[in-house]
Formats: sequence, structure tokens, C-alpha cells
Amino acid sequence: MSRVVVIGAGIMGLAAAHEALRLGHDVTVFEAAPQAGGMAAHMMVGDMSTERFYHFVCKTDFPTFDLLRDLGIIGKLRWVGTSMGYFTHGRLYRWGDPIALLRFPHLSLIQKIRYGLLSYISTRRNRWDALEQQSARAWLTRWCGKSGYDQMWSKLFEQKFFEYTDHVSAAWMWTRIRRVGRSRRSLMQEELGYIEGGSETLVAAMMDAITHAGGTVHLGRPATRIDTHEGQVTAVTAGSETVPADAVICTVPTPLIPDLVPDLAEDAKDAYGKIVNIGAVCVVMALERSITRHFWVNINEADIEVPGVIEFSNLRPASSHIVYIPYYMPTNLPKWSWSDEAFIKDAFLVLKRINPSLQQSDVQHAHVNRLRHAQPVCPPGFKATLPAIQTAIGGLQIADTCFYYPEDRGIAESIRIGQSMAQAIVAP
Ligand SMILES: Cc1cc2nc3c(=O)[nH]c(=O)nc-3n(C[C@H](O)[C@H](O)[C@H](O)COP(=O)(O)OP(=O)(O)OC[C@H]3O[C@@H](n4cnc5c(N)ncnc54)[C@H](O)[C@@H]3O)c2cc1C
Repeated sequence: MSRVVVIGAGIMGLAAAHEALRLGHDVTVFEAAPQAGGMAAHMMVGDMSTERFYHFVCKTDFPTFDLLRDLGIIGKLRWVGTSMGYFTHGRLYRWGDPIALLRFPHLSLIQKIRYGLLSYISTRRNRWDALEQQSARAWLTRWCGKSGYDQMWSKLFEQKFFEYTDHVSAAWMWTRIRRVGRSRRSLMQEELGYIEGGSETLVAAMMDAITHAGGTVHLGRPATRIDTHEGQVTAVTAGSETVPADAVICTVPTPLIPDLVPDLAEDAKDAYGKIVNIGAVCVVMALERSITRHFWVNINEADIEVPGVIEFSNLRPASSHIVYIPYYMPTNLPKWSWSDEAFIKDAFLVLKRINPSLQQSDVQHAHVNRLRHAQPVCPPGFKATLPAIQTAIGGLQIADTCFYYPEDRGIAESIRIGQSMAQAIVAP
């Protein structure tokens, strides 16, 4: 069968490698970071292994369930009835079910009905062609009215997308509402999942399965060039080593592609280079005290620069209260260069606004994780601008998290795309 080189040992690369081995190929993986997992990699917070970036599972994440089953660890999947909060006008409100919506004092009855209908219909809808050319802002304003949009959505978009706020597709937004909206036990009860041991359990099981099947994974070894000859991929170079390849599956963030594949046509390089990514700085704290009883709290306050906080230990039990405070921003903003200490200080003040009883002495551990390519910006009409996964170079497939648009980033979709790339390998 083929000699396959996979670039990137995030979930997509690992899924591709695992599937390629299952199909009988000879597989080598190169990963730039010293550990596998990419966005889903783990870290130690105190004595607990947890994700560098929070991860929850939804009830429609079917590719994840199939893979867990295949790896023999489906029993590690746990489901929990979770709740949401909404911090606005200096107060924390319950959020995320019809009663909470009806009780919320900052929308009129008409706005509540329109908001409720948007959530209900988005959860049931399956077609997205009519949403593809619209901006999320235009679509949500049509549903919720301008004041409804301003109250419920504008701050969330601005704090994630900054100058790209009005360039986000309605189709992308719809899939986000739908994924969480479908993860419910009942109309009144949201239900989310986690993997016992965190994403480390999945990543470790994939790594084990890959090495057990004869694959080789090189960590801390960035691929530096994909080599081609007469329109066919021939090898991958990683530093001083060049590994011959009949097929290459490349899963690194697409803005890195033009440098990695110098032989691509200029228009293809342009297409990858134009895909904008927002960075993320995520503070994770272990606390003595709980902030709220909610898993997720959306924030809409003029002077708080995070869209929400995630109290992960309200989903996955832990010996401390584990809270993530994510800051999204374009990486050319001066704030991107803030020190870790500055982010930790700011994050503490955010949490204290939500729960004024929080004391500095409650902080047991605080860490900062940064990701330059954390969230692709998918504007209206994005689908038509995406290059095909099978490139014009024979044997070379390229995808990252924006290739499953309109779905947002997610482990399940990375598994699905990774596996499908392995299945598309054509033996020489
Ligand atoms: C803040 C945050 C929260 C999230 N929450 C959830 C959630 O709750 N549920 C969920 O399902 N998903 C969530 N996700 C999304 C999920 O983590 C991703 O969709 C998934 O992990 C992406 O995997 P990937 O392999 O496609 O990409 P990546 O994880 O980006 O993997 C790409 C890999 O390529 C490597 N690489 C880069 N350059 C090179 C090179 N030159 N050579 C070799 N390797 C290279 C990188 O180091 C990386 O490991 C979240 C993501 C973030 C950022």
C-alpha cells in the first residue's frame, strides 16, 4: 500500500493516521509540538490533567462516539445535566431554557418570543444553503430585531471577531446554535458530555492504537517542506530528515500552507493565505471556591473583554473548581503580547465581578495557554472560496478546522475529515 505522511498530530491528523493504518498503509506522523493533541492537548493543573482549552461533547458528535467505540473506550464517555448563566447589567441570570428566557428582564416579551423561535427553529433546521450568503449579524437582526441583536449578540461577536464581526456567515452561526441546542435531555435540560480523564484519554488511546499498528509519530518535529515532482507529492522534509511519501495528509492551520508547499500554484497559495484566523489566550484557574453553579456563563458587560467563562468542573468533576477564561483576539492587537501575569490578573477581576466573594487566596493555580490559529473567520459565501481538500498536486490532501464549514471547530468534525482523507488515499 502507500507510504503516507501525516502532518500534524492534532485530532484530525491522528484520526487520519489511525484510519490509514487500518486500511493497511505505512504511516509516519510529524508534529511540531512536543506533545500530541493540538487544540485538544492536555496540561497539568495542580494534580489534575485537563485540556489546555476546555472541551465538551455534544449529543450529535457521532464520529467521536464511533471512534471511542473503536478504541474500546466508549465507557469513558459521561453525560451531565448542565446549565448556563448570563452575566449582564451587573447581575448573573439563569439562561438556556424557556423559563429562564421568560424571566429575563432585559428583553421585551416580543423579543423573547423572537429569540425563542430563533433557537427552536435553528435546532430543527437542516438546510443551510439559504444562510450561506448572509452575515450572522443580518440574519440574527432579522430574527431578534436590532435592539435584540444589540442586547444578546453584538458583544459576543465583537469580543471574538473584532473587525471581522460583520464578516461572519449566518450558516456558521446556525450550526453553533444547532449543535448545543440538540444536546438536551429535554426542553428544560441541557446535557453535555466529557471523557473521563479529559481529552488526554482520547489522544493517548489514538497514539497507542497508531503505534500498536506500526505507525511512527515524531513529536517536536515540525514539517518544513512538502516536496513534489511533476505534479505528484514525493516526500516531506522535517528539518534535516526527508521521508519519501506517496500520499501526504496535511492538517496544519491553512495560513501556514504557502510556506510549507512552495510548489503550489500561486492562486492556491493565495486562497489558503487569505483565510483569517483569530488567536486565543485562555487562562485556566484552579480555585478553592466555585464561581457559579453553571458550566457556561455568557458575559455582556461593556467593560469586560471576554465573551464568557467556563466552569469546567461543573461538567467534569475535579478536586478543585476549574475555570477557563478565554480571550479571543486578532494576533496583531497589542493585548496579544500581554504577559501571562497580566492576563491572569485581568481574568481574576472578571471572575470577581461575577462572584464578588472570590479572594486572591482562593486561586490555587493559574496558567495561560495561547493559540495563534484558534478560530477561523468564515465570512458569507465562504464555502465557494475554500480550496478542494485534494489539491492539484497528486497525493496531497490539505484541510484544517475550517474545511468542515459550516460546522464550527470540533473534535467530532476533525475526526470525520481526518478519516475521510485517509479513505481518499489512492494507492500508487
Ligand atoms: C478554545 C477552544 C475550545 C474548544 N472547545 C471545543 C469543545 O468544547 N468541543 C469540541 O469538540 N471541540 C472544541 N474545540 C475544537 C477542537 O479542539 C478542534 O476542532 C480540534 O482539536 C482540531 O483538531 P485538528 O487536528 O483539526 O487541528 P489542530 O488541533 O490545530 O492540529 C493541528 C496540529 O498541527 C501541528 N502543526 C502545525 N504546524 C506544523 C508543522 N509545520 N509540522 C507538524 N505539525 C504542525 C500543530 O502543532 C497541531 O498539533 C475547541 C477549540 C478551542 C481553541
